[in-house]
Amino acid sequence: MIAYSRNIPLKYEADVFVAGGGPAGVAAALAASRLGKRVFLAEAQGMFGGAGTAGLVPSFAVFGDGVRILAEGIGREVREAACPDVPIDTKWTPIRVEDLKRTYDRLLAESTVNYSLFTSVCDVVSTDGHVDYVVLTAKSGLFAVKASVYVDCTGDGDLCALGGGRFEAGDESGDVMPATLCSLWAGIDYGRVTLGDGARLEDAFRDGVFTYEDRHLSGIFHTDQALGIGGGNVGHTFGVDPLDERSLTRSIMWGRKSMLEYRRYYREYIPGYERAEPVMTAGMLGVRESRRIVCDYMLNIDDFVAQSVFEDEIGRYCYPVDIHVMTTDKSEYSRFQKEYGSQYRYGKGESYGIPYRALIPASFDNMLTAGRCMGADRRMQASIRVMPGCFITGQAAGAAAALAADSGDVRRVDTASLQEKLASLGAYLPNRSK
Ligand SMILES: Cc1cc2nc3c(=O)[nH]c(=O)nc-3n(C[C@H](O)[C@H](O)[C@H](O)COP(=O)(O)OP(=O)(O)OC[C@H]3O[C@@H](n4cnc5c(N)ncnc54)[C@H](O)[C@@H]3O)c2cc1C
Repeated sequence: MIAYSRNIPLKYEADVFVAGGGPAGVAAALAASRLGKRVFLAEAQGMFGGAGTAGLVPSFAVFGDGVRILAEGIGREVREAACPDVPIDTKWTPIRVEDLKRTYDRLLAESTVNYSLFTSVCDVVSTDGHVDYVVLTAKSGLFAVKASVYVDCTGDGDLCALGGGRFEAGDESGDVMPATLCSLWAGIDYGRVTLGDGARLEDAFRDGVFTYEDRHLSGIFHTDQALGIGGGNVGHTFGVDPLDERSLTRSIMWGRKSMLEYRRYYREYIPGYERAEPVMTAGMLGVRESRRIVCDYMLNIDDFVAQSVFEDEIGRYCYPVDIHVMTTDKSEYSRFQKEYGSQYRYGKGESYGIPYRALIPASFDNMLTAGRCMGADRRMQASIRVMPGCFITGQAAGAAAALAADSGDVRRVDTASLQEKLASLGAYLPNRSK
């Protein structure tokens, strides 16, 4: 251990500080700024969009429940601007990643949000559960940002953890779902693709194509059929610890190497892919779960089953519980398929409510969270973590942060006022208290 101290500049002051510029963080920053607050948004990567851009996740999950759009407001705005040719209905939507990056850039550039890329939160200084300031690291060195309310949209719950706040992670043993290094593919002859991606996996296992017998193949999702371009959500890196940089290093290197096996599989076994080439892998490993911040309410699987309605409801969502099997064991894969392949799925028009309390970290009075690390049990995290869910919770956290900015106390936000502000941003709130 070494003791380390130095004087650093207080570079920015704001009403609302947002850590992480993925779908949750961008929605939070835009919501707070549209409600008239000064916002500072710090993003570690060289682009906004998180896993959907830096991580090359190839598609948006459903925005609606088959009857209506649930990710209304900023979510719909991003989705329609980035994918104008695809109607916003009940289907998954392919992402053209450069269009999505430019959409986030434009929305932020047109807003009053003060933002910085290549800027990471590396420390949080707090007193008795009240965050005083955050420390950031960037090319210019270390500096501080001071705000009234802080919003953790890092996906990994970094802000909460660095401030000493409570969180949960993974299953009973702390193990998490495998990660995936997403990829961009070219040279696919979509006119000749008739087989599903996983149709010949067992043949390939028998022929020794793969190092691991990984039966869960999400596949290559067409992002531009005419140009033969697809987004790959193929392969898993098992046993990753997403909170350890050395483990992340090993995983991303394995992900890159494994593309050779998937290239061989697609070229030799699936018609239409004979000339397919993985032209790029993401610079960011696709982490499905890490920390789940302990919040005043933990959204839980009973809420999914009951289609819960909450008095402090900030939105509703409907994506199934999507847990990826954590080993390559065949019987375990079958068990997972049985448990999650058909259970915890909604019919048309069904959804669960999300309470504001699930965005309030229990350990702080001036912090909120949204997106992948919000307050949820493991199975609910596997539903709300997809991008439309993150837009819903991010928008709500931003609106709540705007309302809490004067008092500096996120528990003093009045539910009716929050719902009214959210409605003004376009949110879908069927159970709004009058
Ligand atoms: C392999 C994979 C496939 C998926 N497929 C789909 C899909 O098809 N459709 C779908 O809708 N969703 C999908 N998802 C889920 C979805 O992409 C993510 O869960 C979602 O992007 C989470 O949004 P977020 O804003 O909470 O976090 P992220 O998207 O992870 O964004 C968090 C941001 O915070 C930044 N950050 C992290 N730490 C710091 C720090 N200390 N300081 C500053 N910035 C920081 C990161 O750089 C990142 O940009 C997939 C996820 C994975 C991993």
